[in-house]
Amino acid sequence: MQKIRVTIWNEFRHEKENPEIAAIYPDGLHRTIAKGIAADDLEIRCVSLDDPEQGLSDEIINSTDVMLWWGHCAHAEVRDDLVAKVHKRVLEGMGLIVLHSGHFSKIFRCLTGCTCSLKWREAGERERLWNIAPYHPITQGIGEYFEIPHEEMYGERFDIPKDSEILFISHFEGGNVFRSGVVFERGYGKIFYFQPGHESYPVYYQKEVLQVIGNAIRWAKPVFFREMSAPMTPAIDKIYTVCSGPSTGIVQNIDGTAK
Ligand code: ZN
Repeated sequence: MQKIRVTIWNEFRHEKENPEIAAIYPDGLHRTIAKGIAADDLEIRCVSLDDPEQGLSDEIINSTDVMLWWGHCAHAEVRDDLVAKVHKRVLEGMGLIVLHSGHFSKIFRCLTGCTCSLKWREAGERERLWNIAPYHPITQGIGEYFEIPHEEMYGERFDIPKDSEILFISHFEGGNVFRSGVVFERGYGKIFYFQPGHESYPVYYQKEVLQVIGNAIRWAKPVFFREMSAPMTPAIDKIYTVCSGPSTGIVQNIDGTAK
């Protein structure tokens, strides 16, 4: 069995700088997620912003089937050239799972083309996530709903594209609602945004959250990797209405260059 190669990218700053967060995630939330989703069909690697090449070397990107992304206070530090490489790889087929405050990451805003803004409140309130897509592979093993005892409120309006499919809608104790689980397709890549995971609460120890993330990895696994371009294609049938004008045809690449 070929394993799914998973890379968990974590900004990994709150855990190093704030003792209260470190007490919840002593090894970083990426390693907690890795432990929680460990399974025979997954080959999991953890990387972070302070690693060489910000954890996004060509070798790492090109040997990843599905990437998880958690960032918050240092989105701006992520190098644009590395974001462009991750973006290109998603279009070629790599799966991407964006967690919680990753909604404002460069890679998520780039792929959605939206601001991804939302409302928030840090009051430790209860969140109830309603599973409105029980047929979807990502919601398998999850009942009609599940609850997170304490979570940061993320509220509508969430500025994301209208071509998303909504899998979870959350209700927060304080009254707000939120599209807390949504999927997109971009190029050949599958993308899942999942809202739970504020660093102040032990959300990534909860079994339902880990179940959803594990399901999402298997759903987002690429069928293939294929470079995107705009190739000239010969006609299948004979063309009778030929007009012999000048031709300037070139093969164009998605980065704007021409072969
Ligand atoms: Zn948060």
